[in-house]
Amino acid sequence: MSAKYVFVTGGVVSSLGKGLAAASIGCLLESRGLRVNMMKFDPYLNVDPGTMSPFQHGEVFVTDDGAETDLDLGHYERFTHAPLSRDNNLTTGRIYEQIILKERRGDYLGKTVQVIPHVTNEIKNAMRKVSSNGADVTIVEIGGTVGDIESLPFLEAIRQMRQELGRESTVFVHLTLVPWIAAAQELKTKPTQHSVKELLSIGIQADILLCRTDRSLPLEMKKKIAAFCNVEERAVVAAKDVPSIYEVPVCFAQEGVDSLILKYLHKEAPEADLTLWKDLVHRSYHPKDKVSIAIVGKYVEYEDSYKSLKEALTHGATSQNLKLNVTWIEAEGLESKFPEDRSYEAQLEGFDGILVPGGFGKRGIEGMLNAIRYTREKQVPYFGICLGMQTACIEFARNVCGLKDANSSEFDPASQHRIIYKLRELLGVEEMGGTMRLGAWTCILQEDSLAAKAYGGATEISERHRHRYEFNREYEALLTGAGLRISGTTPDATYVEIVELPGHPYFLGCQFHPEFKSKPLEPHPLFREFVIASYKNRMSRVSEQVDSVTTVG
Ligand code: GLN
Repeated sequence: MSAKYVFVTGGVVSSLGKGLAAASIGCLLESRGLRVNMMKFDPYLNVDPGTMSPFQHGEVFVTDDGAETDLDLGHYERFTHAPLSRDNNLTTGRIYEQIILKERRGDYLGKTVQVIPHVTNEIKNAMRKVSSNGADVTIVEIGGTVGDIESLPFLEAIRQMRQELGRESTVFVHLTLVPWIAAAQELKTKPTQHSVKELLSIGIQADILLCRTDRSLPLEMKKKIAAFCNVEERAVVAAKDVPSIYEVPVCFAQEGVDSLILKYLHKEAPEADLTLWKDLVHRSYHPKDKVSIAIVGKYVEYEDSYKSLKEALTHGATSQNLKLNVTWIEAEGLESKFPEDRSYEAQLEGFDGILVPGGFGKRGIEGMLNAIRYTREKQVPYFGICLGMQTACIEFARNVCGLKDANSSEFDPASQHRIIYKLRELLGVEEMGGTMRLGAWTCILQEDSLAAKAYGGATEISERHRHRYEFNREYEALLTGAGLRISGTTPDATYVEIVELPGHPYFLGCQFHPEFKSKPLEPHPLFREFVIASYKNRMSRVSEQVDSVTTVG
């Protein structure tokens, strides 16, 4: 049986949610009992998103094998069970890197190396590699918008795939916009028509149109789009804005997207079972109460930099039937103006839980330390991720152990007390280039710890990393002697992976990024437990208020 492909392209404007649409199609096909692969091509020239600014590119998503990928792969993992690795996200830069390497090695035997066929062949080979694992359908998302110069080789490659594999093995799904023009009080189909035409001019006839709208698409509108764009009427799908992204697969199912894809691919499959997704959507639209979390970080004005984090918190909250209210606090704004200045506390009051996420560089660190001190002293649930774990250790060393200049060598290389450092720094080894600890590492949990309880009594877990600096075990005796508990380490005990504070309602820092593994239907235990602790905190404050009102009354 030959591999089957669904190609997802986007038109009109960017940011229509192509990644989400692709992931939702994957989810739908899985709900019909099929095994899916997901992959994304990014047309930019960077070799991977690892070194791109979170402001420009959003979060860098990390897979088990340590690939630094586009954040759409996060959607793929949250919506499907597709196995993802560095093979599932390729940029133009990576493709050219491979080609130039081959050319230098003499693999092309002196031939002229060209976009067609060499670049397109490399792209097609990458698709074949992913689809060769025996899954039923491979969904390929092409980044960018049709009409961009950079996406042309990718579009040409998928055009060739249709030529080679035929109609019954390939489907072209195109995501477009049908805007509401307020002045005319009308939905407009022209941008969609133009975008489909643009695609046609490079030899691709779209099969299915996902039309983003802010309202329902009337039948007349669908008929018109179908006629002008040369697709079946049922292939014009209303992709209406919905409050929760997890409703998208349910909406696509209502529009019959799965059946249409299966029809085009000549594939039979059992009826869709979306019960769990529908339950999830119901719970997120009918919460019993809310929980409010403050995230103290550096890139807070651009939420996409913390995409998986926000989703993981949402999963934790929805699992408890709670609505998540997140407040983003710029860490720099929490810095003290003089040593005993605690005026920042006013900004931290009233939250049920506080989280410090991952980050790089010195900016905002002193503000994060203040926020952590506040949570430790006031018994407010605290969750520190990667940088948030490192800063929790520094805060403890400074304010509990009295090491006033405790720091990470990332922020103060001259510090006398490098609580956080590059392991090899002490050995005097110069590190070059990509020295990050990346991808999945095993962690051994201490029995009866907060972490072990959260993970349901597990003693061994695997989580994903993306950082350079580590806890310095020379300070372990001092910090643990003063009450910090190290509850997770690598199996060889080289690296500290989790710290916590016994006696505190929830104070946990982890060196890894648990947010990358949280799924809506399988919320990550550390996020779930953090939300539970935060909600308890909320309830106890509510009952205190009730008590004081009763007393006053
Ligand atoms: N900057 C820190 C390090 O490199 C933390 C990185 C992170 O939070 N992802 O170790």
